[in-house]
Amino acid sequence: MSKIPMVDLKGQYQHIKSEIDEAISEVLASGQFIKGPVVAAFEQSLADHLGTAHVISCANGTDALQIALMSLDLEPGAEIIVPSFTYVSTAEVISLLGYTPVMIDVDPVSFNISAAQIEAALTERTRAIVPVHLFGQSCDMDSIMKIAKLHGLFVIEDNAQAIGATYIGTDQTNAMSGTIGHIGCTSFFPTKNLGCYGDGGAICTDDDALAEKIRMIANHGQRKKYQHDIIGVNSRLDALQAAVLSVKLRHFEQYIKARQMAAAYYTEQLQDLDWIDTPIESQYSNHVYHQYTIKVKLGKRDALQQHLKQAGIASMVYYPIPLYRQAAFLPNDVARDGLQHTEMLCDAVLSLPMHTELTPAIQDVIIKEIKLFDVTQ
Ligand SMILES: *Cc1c(COP(=O)(O)O)cnc(C)c1O
Repeated sequence: MSKIPMVDLKGQYQHIKSEIDEAISEVLASGQFIKGPVVAAFEQSLADHLGTAHVISCANGTDALQIALMSLDLEPGAEIIVPSFTYVSTAEVISLLGYTPVMIDVDPVSFNISAAQIEAALTERTRAIVPVHLFGQSCDMDSIMKIAKLHGLFVIEDNAQAIGATYIGTDQTNAMSGTIGHIGCTSFFPTKNLGCYGDGGAICTDDDALAEKIRMIANHGQRKKYQHDIIGVNSRLDALQAAVLSVKLRHFEQYIKARQMAAAYYTEQLQDLDWIDTPIESQYSNHVYHQYTIKVKLGKRDALQQHLKQAGIASMVYYPIPLYRQAAFLPNDVARDGLQHTEMLCDAVLSLPMHTELTPAIQDVIIKEIKLFDVTQ
C-alpha cells in the first residue's frame, strides 16, 4: 500500500457525504433503478453544462464509443484514424465492429494527434477520426474539423479524460471539449474527472437525428417498447450512478480548479529539474489535468518510479505499450518500426498523484522525493 496514492476517492466522498447519501437514499426510496427522472435530470444538467443539445447516458465510456460508431453506419473495413498513444478502448471498439483502426503518431508535447499527422494517414477508405483529448487537454479541434469537412469524415471525440476542458477556437470563441465533433463520448469511471461510484458513460451531439439513433442503439434498437428497428445493445447508466453524478456535477468546476492548482504547484516546483519535462498547456485548450504527466529524460523513468515506490509514493505509466504493439491488434503495419513519438513517450511518461484532495503538504513530500532521486546513477 502506498502512503501517497494516485487518487483519493474516499477523501472526496467525505466532503460531500451528506449530499451523496441523501441522493442515494432518494433513489432507494423511489424503487426506480433503471431509466426514470433521476437519469433524465442528470442528462439534462450535463447537456446544459457542456452546452450541447443532447446527452445520452450509457453503461461506460467504451460503450459510448461503440454506440457512437454504430450510429454512423460505416461499411465493413472502413478506416478510422486514432492515436497510437491512448487507452485501448478507442481502437478496440473499431476492430470489434469490423472497421480498421489506423493508428497514427502523436505530438510529443501535447500527447495529442495533430492535423498534419491525420492528413498523412488519409486514404480512399478513411471515414472517421477519433481524436482523444489525452490527460485533460483538448486536441487542436479547428484544424481537425477542417480536414474532416474537406474529406467528408465524421469526428467522434474521445473526451473520457478531458470532460470539463475548454477549447479555445481560432476565432477566440470557447466550446467545451467533446462538443465540437459530430459526436463526443465520455466515461464516468470512478477515477475520471467526473466519476461515479461504478461504471458509467455518456454520448453527446448537437445533431437531432444522430441523437435519436444513438438513443435507440443504446436501448436494443427500439424506438417504441417491443418495436426493434435496428440492431442495438443494452447500455444504460443506472439511477444510483446518475444521482451520484448529479451531486458531483454541482462541484465539478471546483474539482477542476483543485486539479489545476495542484498541477500549477507541481510545475512551479519541478521546472528547475532539467531531466524532467513538465506538462505544457497549449494555446487552444485549457487543461483539466485528468493526469499530471511528466516526461523523464535520460532513460530514468523506471528508476524514478522505483525510487518513489520505495518512499511509498504511487505513480503510473499511462501508457507503457503503443497500441500497435498490442497482440490484439497484430498484425499491424506500424508495429515493425513503430512511431517515433509514441515510442519515446511510452518509455518516458510518468503520471504523478493527481486528484481533488491533493494539498501542497502532500505534494511537498512527492516533490522532495523526486528531488532526492540521483539521476546520475
Ligand atoms: C477511460 C477511458 C475510456 C473508457 O472508459 P470506460 O468507462 O472505462 O469504458 C476510453 N477512452 C479513454 C481515453 C479513457 O481514458
